[in-house]
Amino acid sequence: MNSVFINGEVVDRANAKIDIEDRGYQFGDGIYEVIRVYGGNTFTMKEHMVRLYQSAEKMKLEIPYPEEELTAHLLKLIDSNQVKDGIVYLQVTRGVSARQHHFPSGDVIGSVVAYTKDFPVPSQQMELGVTAKLLEDIRWLRCDIKSLNLLGNLLAKEEAASEGHFEAILHRGDTVTEGSSSNAFMVKDGVIYTHPATNLILNGITRRVIEGLCRENTISFQEEAFLVRELLEADEVFIASTTSEVMPVIKIDEQTIGDGKPGPVTKRLQALFSERKREQSPVK
Ligand code: PMP
Repeated sequence: MNSVFINGEVVDRANAKIDIEDRGYQFGDGIYEVIRVYGGNTFTMKEHMVRLYQSAEKMKLEIPYPEEELTAHLLKLIDSNQVKDGIVYLQVTRGVSARQHHFPSGDVIGSVVAYTKDFPVPSQQMELGVTAKLLEDIRWLRCDIKSLNLLGNLLAKEEAASEGHFEAILHRGDTVTEGSSSNAFMVKDGVIYTHPATNLILNGITRRVIEGLCRENTISFQEEAFLVRELLEADEVFIASTTSEVMPVIKIDEQTIGDGKPGPVTKRLQALFSERKREQSPVK
């Protein structure tokens, strides 16, 4: 089955139509979430939904359904498509109106679209580690909003990927911010460091799961910005996201990180994360 959710209805994907004057299409004037499904159950769905409504508030966008109702629609879609290991992509835009920069009048209703996709856990990369390229963070100053405007992220990812890298790790001046589609972490002397959740990064849900796991297992976790030089001299580096989970980075540009293999702290977190996936009680 390939059903999608569009403005209140679950329909076959071929029958889902978006107006060419949708503000998401014309301006990227919208927000989104990617929610993980493991074994048919959603993972940290509540946290993703809360972040969606927070992003909406930050850009004065009204989501046309209450959170509980939208969650129920998504669960129905997952069931209908019989997703096992995959994702739900959810997008809300400011709706359809004649092209103008300022917001449309209050009677224009936001467009809501969701679809599912199979997405296996990238086990091999998680076991072997991946490489990354360092690039200047050229994005805007509200990276805390999960907005559809991703051009800065796309340009970075493309440049890194075209050279065979898994991810671009971004820095503003000397300070490391995050990955182009992930949060970035380094380990030094047993302490995990990551950029604080300011306007310069997206406060990842995976990042928050990791923070919780560290707290519960007395692993030292510091929300403290670090420099490019410190990143390159770290004992371990990893990135984290909904689709990449805890992903070891073993080489950045020409610099091998640690001994060039996923390190013990990263591996421990991977194990704890897998455990959390198994024990998290499903929403449905
Ligand atoms: N930062 C950016 C820029 C991202 O695009 C993502 C993934 N969407 C993340 C961080 C990680 O967020 P999450 O763990 O919620 O997937």
